[in-house]
Formats: sequence, C-alpha cells, structure tokens
Amino acid sequence: MELTALKGIGSKTAEYFGKLGVHTQEELLEFFPRDYELFFAPVTVSEIGYKTFAAVRGVFTQDLFQRRVKKMTITTAQFRDEVGNTIKVTWFNAPFMKDAVHPGELYVLRGRVSRKYGVLSLNQPKVYKISEYEKLMNTMQPVYPVTKGLSGTMIANAVRRAMEGEAFHRLDLEDPIPGEIRVRYGLCKKSYAVSNLHFPESQNAYMAGAVRMSFEEIFLFILAMKQSETGKRSASSIRIEQDPRTEAFLKNLPFSLTNAQKKVIGEIRDDMTSGYVMNRLIQGDVGSGKTIVAIAALMNAAFAGYQGALMAPTEVLASQHFETISRMLKESGSGLNAALLTGSMTALEKRVVYDALEDGRIQIIVGTHALFQEKVKYKNLGLIVTDEQHRFGIKQREALAMKASADDPSIQPHMIVMSATPIPRTLALILYGNMDVSVIDELPGGRKQIKNAVVDDSYKENAYRFIEKETAKGHQVYIICPLIEYSEGVDAANVTDYTEMLKDVLNENITIGMLHGQMTPAKKNEIMKKFAEGEIQVLVSTTVVEVGVDVPNATVMMVEDANRFGLAALHQLRGRVGRGKDQSYCIFVCNNNSKEAMQRLEVLKTSNNGFEIAAKDLELRGPGEFMGIRQSGALSFKNFDVYRDADIAQKALTAVDDILSGRLRLTKAEEEILREKSSLASGTILL
Ligand code: ADP
Ligand code: MG
Repeated sequence: MELTALKGIGSKTAEYFGKLGVHTQEELLEFFPRDYELFFAPVTVSEIGYKTFAAVRGVFTQDLFQRRVKKMTITTAQFRDEVGNTIKVTWFNAPFMKDAVHPGELYVLRGRVSRKYGVLSLNQPKVYKISEYEKLMNTMQPVYPVTKGLSGTMIANAVRRAMEGEAFHRLDLEDPIPGEIRVRYGLCKKSYAVSNLHFPESQNAYMAGAVRMSFEEIFLFILAMKQSETGKRSASSIRIEQDPRTEAFLKNLPFSLTNAQKKVIGEIRDDMTSGYVMNRLIQGDVGSGKTIVAIAALMNAAFAGYQGALMAPTEVLASQHFETISRMLKESGSGLNAALLTGSMTALEKRVVYDALEDGRIQIIVGTHALFQEKVKYKNLGLIVTDEQHRFGIKQREALAMKASADDPSIQPHMIVMSATPIPRTLALILYGNMDVSVIDELPGGRKQIKNAVVDDSYKENAYRFIEKETAKGHQVYIICPLIEYSEGVDAANVTDYTEMLKDVLNENITIGMLHGQMTPAKKNEIMKKFAEGEIQVLVSTTVVEVGVDVPNATVMMVEDANRFGLAALHQLRGRVGRGKDQSYCIFVCNNNSKEAMQRLEVLKTSNNGFEIAAKDLELRGPGEFMGIRQSGALSFKNFDVYRDADIAQKALTAVDDILSGRLRLTKAEEEILREKSSLASGTILL
C-alpha cells in the first residue's frame, strides 16, 4: 500500500522514505529500529569527561537568557549539578524554552556536549522532569536509521499510523510462516512481532518478536537457496593446473607461505583439475593471508588461458586489491594484465575496460559488483573469486556464475568465496549449502602480538597522549565510532562531532581525517588513499574500515563505545592493525563504565581466535542481552543474527526440509504465499 495513503505523508516525505529503501507501508512496517536507546543514569558535570553526549541532573541557577542574532534566537543558561559544578546550556531557535523551565527545580538535561575554548556546554538538550526521566529509564526507545528530511520521531509516527491501517491488519493473513510451523516452534504472530520490534512492551515481548522475524528471514532464505541452482556439483570443461610460473612467483614472495595457506592452495588446485566446477568457501581469520591464495589461483587461471575475476564488496577494497595484484604481476614479470572496474569510473573508462575484457587483453579483472553488470562481456571467464562474500546476494552470485563467455558459452567458471566471518561449522553448512569449505587456521609467523587494553572513559586523556606519541613515531591511528553523526538522543560517539573534538584535543600538527558509509564511493576512496599513503595520520571512522583494508603502518586502533559492538565485530576491526612489523595496540573504550560490559570485552585480551571469540560472546551474553548489538561485518541479514540465532537456523532448515519433502502438508493458500515470498527473498536477502 502507498505510503502517501498515511496521514501526514506527502510525496516529498515519501521520497525521503524512498532513500531509506522504504516505498510501501508494508516495507515501513518491516523497517525496524537499528537500535534501542536505553536511558542511562544521569552523570555529574565532572563525569562528562570526553563524552560527546550526556544526561546531567541538576537545576538552572537563574532565569534563562535570550538574545537575537540575525534571524536566530539564542537561549542560554547555567545549569548546576548536584555536587555544585555548572555547565553552560544553549538552545537555538527555541524561544519557548524560556517559559518552559523554572530555576531551582530539578531536571535532567540530555544533549550534545561541546567544548569551545575550554568551556563545556550542553547544546540543544532535551529537558525532562525527574519523574519523566525515571520512567524512561526502564523502557526501550526505538532508534531508526535516519536520513535528511526524516527524523526518528517522524519515522516512529509514520510507523504508528501504519499500525492502525490495513497493511498491518494483513500481516497475519499473509504470514509466510505456515501455521503448523508457527505452532511447532512456538513463534508469535507476525503483527505481534512487528509491533514489539518497533515499540517493545517489554524486553520479553521484544525477544519473542526478534526470534520470530529472524526465523522468517532465515526460513525464506534457506527455502530460496535450496531451490537455487548455485552450488550444485556439475561437470566442468575447464581444467586449470598449477603453473610453474605461479610456483616461482610464490617462492619469490618476501615471506614464506604458512602451512595453512599451502594446504588451501593445494585444495584449490585439486578442485580446479577435478573435472567438476569448483565451489569453495575459504574461511580464514583476518590477517591469515587469504588474498595471496586468491592471487595464486587467478594467476593459474590466467596462465592456462582463462580470465579471472576478483570481486570485492567495496570500491576501497577493490582498488586496494587491484594495486596489490598489478604490483605483483609487474614485479614477477608474469606478462599478465590486470585492470580495475568499479561503479564510480566514468563511462569512457569503463568502455575501455569492457573492450579489453571482451577481446581478452585483460586476464585478471578486479572490481565491485560492477563486474557482472549486463554490459560486461568476458572472452573466457574461468575463475571468479569473491572476497568477503557475505555482502553478495544469492541472485547476484547466480548472475555471476551464469556469466557466459564469448568463446564458449557453455563454460561454467570455478568459484572461490572468501570470508573472515567466524561462524560455527554447523551454521556454515546451512548458510553456504553445498559448498566445500577450506579453513586457513594459522596466522603468518613473525608478527608481534597486538597489545589490548579495555578501559573506561577516564583513560581517554592517556589515550590521546599515547596517540600523539605513536603519530610522532610516524605511525597511524584508527578511531572507530558507532555513529556517523549525532542521532536524536543516542548516547554513543559519532564520527562527525568526534573529529571536531579531536582537533581540539590532539596536537594541532596531526592531520585528522574522517570516513563513513554515507560518503560517495569516490570520496571514500580518496580518504582511504590518503590514509594508505600516510597523508592522514588519524582516521576517525565508522566500521566501514572493517572490511579487508590493509594499511600496515597503522599501529593503533581505538574503538569508542566498544560495548555497543559484538566481540566478533571488534575482533574484525582489530585485524586492521598488527599487519606490519611494529608493535600494535588496541584500545577498547567502554564509555558507560559498566562492569559487565568491560568483563565481556576482556575476552578480546585472552583470545585471538575469531571463532572462539564469537562462541565466548554468545556464552557471556544471554540471548536476551543482544539488543542493540549488531554484529556488523557478519552476514548481512536484516533480522537474523548469525551469532545469536544458530539454533533458529537449524529449526528453519528442518522446517524447509519437511515442506520440500512433502512431509508437511501446506494449505493451498499457504503454498501460494510461500512461493511468492521465497522468490522475493532470493533477490533481496544477502548472503
Ligand atoms: P586477510 O586474510 O585478512 O585478507 P591479507 O591477505 O590481506 O589477509 O594478508 C594480510 C597481510 O599479511 C598482507 O600484508 C599480506 O601481504 C601478508 N601476508 C600474507 N601471507 C603471509 C605470510 N605467509 N607471511 C607473512 N605475511 C603474509
Ligand atoms: Mg582480506
């Protein structure tokens, strides 16, 4: 149903929703909060430290002061906490504030913190009566991913309206989970789930909803996968041997391969000469050296006269792979040609690459999903490697596998997918279906162990001085924040404000850059390039840096609000440092000073194994404590969480088997709904 049928949503607003991928009321209802805000106990002024956001309890010392500057009303006040320290408070264009609050009465103020010339102030805070704030402290408030023109409140209001309408009503009628399965696994109704994911009545209701939506997603996914052609073992016309020139190249590397790398290279060689199409997943922790394994396979294909493609999930990563590969091809005197193909290239640049691919002048092509757009024609594609493959959909993978070669349309290319996501074997078998799995279970030797620290925010001062010392030695630093920019009342560091704050706090000679997912690919590339070349010394970023980037000169990784991330995600982030010869450091900052959260983070100090860490994380947090923590970097499902929901996947698999084998009889209506939804799923759910 049309979004504009909802009261208060005009075509302009509908357009903004479109930017978030929400085009209909149905999509709006399943546009779930990214996070839930829990209201923490207020702090005193001195406890604000380097927080960029805070709630303070106290009183206004006198009447609010109001003045006009140009067309703006500026309201300021002094606010005193309970131990007698004051903080400046500022509102812009909020003239009503003057009459809304009364000096001497107790309030909680919650807003952004800024520091100008050493003066601490709270900007644009929301004002709560004490009783109001205390009530909020026991609730979960939805936090939506926002966009220009749409605030969280507007989204919440739109959802509320949709929940009164017919689209909501139909949720249960068109439930893709057949009734019998719902009963068998004790899953709640869809309408209940949707309503409690937006506005949880309680934590239990939230969990019931989360479990149900997770089941639905993975159930449809497995169903689609079982019906898809990818991964079926089929005969191959391509045999690719290990070429002596590749052997020589590997021998001449500045390092020697680990035994694990040699083992996997061997497995790939066996596959590519077996007479079947290779379909292999390579799992290896960050830094285990997957890239070189891929390069060896690509070279073998090229020497055998076939083209090879290496596909990465981001432009940044694609460029980096391209540079590594072309340097290696050149240095080794292989005579092979590599090229880069990404979406942000100009039409002309692309044209040149298309032509060279079609006539075979390019043997190794590196790029993003631009590699398998329809316009791209290959002369004879023999091998496809996808890096960090979880970002690609089943349908995309199929499109790639089906990419016919001009020379011989019957050629089915070999496939390698590489992933650093540590997931248990049983789950891998469900999610990757009929792929063979190789594991690189050994890190290259000679690396210094990363030194880890788990700290609360009182340590920040030391951290900044430490960062200055490291940059003085010529090293570089990553600082990770959970958010891109200030988001209505979310108590977490954001890249934009943090970068500003750092300019104040760090030695002014240090160049600070920022990076986040809402920048254009070209901009991201530019920043990453500057960082890789050492021009930017401190990079403040969201987790976009997490996927595969390699800057060996970076020695410090500091993660703000580390407690907001899953341990596996933090481990992935940590893999960005410790890649060179110098000692590297990770600083995990837990800004809410919670003991339990810090204890959980301590696991990162005792283990360096992604698989182990993910398992431990599950054990330490009960399933109920998963709220708000997204294991970013893990498979991109919307509701299914790889770490939390392994047993849900098992049940969904059983359910799918029962349906496909006919053991479980569906009604005609159920069958119809399922057919429609599962064909949709294969196009939209990412693996
Ligand atoms: P990942 O598995 O995370 O993709 P990379 O392939 O990016 O890891 O490798 C990380 C770094 O380790 C690269 O700089 C790479 O050149 C280096 N490397 C790979 N294999 C070895 C090895 N056997 N010994 C030493 N360094 C290696
Ligand atoms: Mg990698």
